[in-house]
Amino acid sequence: MRSASDDAGTWRDIAVCTQVHPDLFFPVKGDGTSRREDLRAAQAVCAGCPVWRQCLSEALAVGERWGVWGGVNMEAIRTAQRRQRVKALLR
Ligand code: SF4
Repeated sequence: MRSASDDAGTWRDIAVCTQVHPDLFFPVKGDGTSRREDLRAAQAVCAGCPVWRQCLSEALAVGERWGVWGGVNMEAIRTAQRRQRVKALLR
């Protein structure tokens, strides 16, 4: 896994992304949006990862804002959260 604060001997030890360049999981263009092809490539790696649930759970728990975790694009989650907040304002 990619975090600098990783502990040894955890689910991260068998994460598939340890064999892939970490930039793949942060497919962001200069304007802050994700590069679609890189995003798909990262998600394909995660699809074969045996610890994707742990990865996504932790990313959500710590409030990761960027990158692909457990196959999920955090940018998409933030967009959905913003959309929910706007909808709540309209109720
Ligand atoms: S789900 Fe993806 S980002 Fe998470 S540990 Fe596995 S390969 Fe890495």
